[in-house]
Amino acid sequence: MPPPPGGRLGPGVLTEEEKKNKPKVTKELLLRIFSYLKPYKKQMALVLLAILVSAVLTLLPSVLTGRIVDEGLIAKNMQKLILYILLSFGVTLLANLIGIGESYLNTWIAQHITYDMRNAMYIHLQKMSQRFFTTNNQGDIITRMTSDISGVQQIITGTLTSIISNSITLIVALVIMFRENWLLALVGVLVVPLFTIPTRNAGKTRWSITQESQACSDEINGILNETLSVSGQLLVKLFGMEQKEYEKYEKVNKNMIRLNIRESMAGRWFRMALNTFTNIGPMLIYLVGGVIMMEIDETVTVGQITVLVALLGKMYGPVNQLLNIQVDWIRSMALFTRIFEYYDMPAEIENAPDAITPDTVRGEVEFQHVRFHYDPEREILKDINFKLEQGRCFAIVGPSGSGKSTLINLIPRLYDVIDGRVLFDGTDVRKLDLAFLRKNIGIVSQETYLFNGTIRDNLLYAKPDATEEELIDACKQANIYDFVSAQETGLDTVVGNRGLKLSGGEKQRISIARILLKDPALMIFDEATSALDSISEQKIQDAIEPLIATRTSILIAHRLSTVLAADEILVIQDGEIAERGTHNELVGKGGVYTQLYETQFSRAKESEIPDLSYSEGESDA
Ligand code: ATP
Repeated sequence: MPPPPGGRLGPGVLTEEEKKNKPKVTKELLLRIFSYLKPYKKQMALVLLAILVSAVLTLLPSVLTGRIVDEGLIAKNMQKLILYILLSFGVTLLANLIGIGESYLNTWIAQHITYDMRNAMYIHLQKMSQRFFTTNNQGDIITRMTSDISGVQQIITGTLTSIISNSITLIVALVIMFRENWLLALVGVLVVPLFTIPTRNAGKTRWSITQESQACSDEINGILNETLSVSGQLLVKLFGMEQKEYEKYEKVNKNMIRLNIRESMAGRWFRMALNTFTNIGPMLIYLVGGVIMMEIDETVTVGQITVLVALLGKMYGPVNQLLNIQVDWIRSMALFTRIFEYYDMPAEIENAPDAITPDTVRGEVEFQHVRFHYDPEREILKDINFKLEQGRCFAIVGPSGSGKSTLINLIPRLYDVIDGRVLFDGTDVRKLDLAFLRKNIGIVSQETYLFNGTIRDNLLYAKPDATEEELIDACKQANIYDFVSAQETGLDTVVGNRGLKLSGGEKQRISIARILLKDPALMIFDEATSALDSISEQKIQDAIEPLIATRTSILIAHRLSTVLAADEILVIQDGEIAERGTHNELVGKGGVYTQLYETQFSRAKESEIPDLSYSEGESDA
């Protein structure tokens, strides 16, 4: 039996949740689904033809069996016997050959539709705003991209083909049966439910166990994912939870074994029921057929009874599958609904139709009465106003959670303002071409993200055509070249999963080198809150100072040395600019900055005391 779409439960049973959330099958939904089949109309027509021909051909040998019995065996005609046997063989061979072609074509269509849908979804998801990615569960996004869309493929190769081919088989079989002998055919039709109902029940039990074991396997995956990941393992080790985690794993593992054994035994019962009924069914026909032949209608031949038994055997599968198709159908519709739900989400942040791409760029930023919230209940930025001129550098400081990162995210339009305006070189960012805007802004974020690849790959991400000299030069400027050249494989050193093979400081300097290669007009540096030792800190400092000296920049600063490098300091508190000025102007004021200076910056103030404390943030980043 083919696995159900979406890889969830098997046929026969809908879960309570599925019953509750039955999708509304509207004409629009169906039309939309069929629109995906449209480009493959010709191939679909060919598949239909192949299904039709192979259904008829598959049934032919059953009809020929009757001839073999009546005209060959009973009539003792060797010539006809051989002829019909050879014909049977040929027809079966042909049906199978057509079947191969049909399944190739079917898979081809399904794969191409999946390909189209995945590409469209990828393009669509790339347009989604940061809000979408922070709000939605990452697993959910991946599931829709992968298994939901794979489910569509199963719908086409499974559900759709199954409906068509089974219906054709049934109709053709019924027509032949009634043409052979209507009375016997009637008996046959009455016997069909006997074949199907018991196996259906056996199937139900089996699938309910499958459901349980699938939940169990999800749980196992969850445990493995959490405890065997880099950060997870670290947490387990540092909290000495190895034994506890093992016990948890062992318990679920045991449950899995129990379920597997039950499932395999349920399979036994299922097969037993199947065997019994497939054997009893024909006997019933022989019995009733015999009675009719001997007592009621003498024109009925042994061959006709044989044909009937053979055709009934062929009907068993299609009837069973069609009975289960409703469940598959509902699931398929639910799957499409889930996929379309994502397609229909507005991109939120898009290029304006009349977006401007200026010829020159200065990198100036201005905030005019900017207000912003993620959730209307809680305003994060309240009436922010400032202007950052070309070549100048602002440091933004403030308590954790005061809205500093949020503020800078508005500049490259990771989010749009709720009220007010953000101007880049005097133009509202919403009126600028997005690609232009983002190309001219470079952000070194708090959580440095490196792709799993080499240092070179990560650098080339900013400038794919950078020469070797440019790469080395960027590394030198970012103060990472000594580290790179000390590695056996230099720039081709692999950085590991999310860059975890490197220290926090190294990662940050590589990301500075990456920004240098991008060479943006506006540089934003979101300093990591986690502590680095003073040597690493100094190296980063030495890397960014020349950078900010030559271009417009904003630093979200957590260290005194960074603050001191700026031309002006904006102190953010509760989403407002509480104070602004130079360090000397602010430090004696007795306000928020003074407080920050005395608490947050004091470590640095006490000067060059290496901070070697372990930082969780660093290992997680
Ligand atoms: P830190 O110095 O700790 O990095 P920050 O000043 O940069 O803090 P933000 O990251 O801007 O602070 O966050 C400001 C507030 O907005 C926080 O209270 C945070 O919980 C909330 N917040 C941040 N990102 C989101 C989001 N994607 N959805 C909802 N709320 C968010």
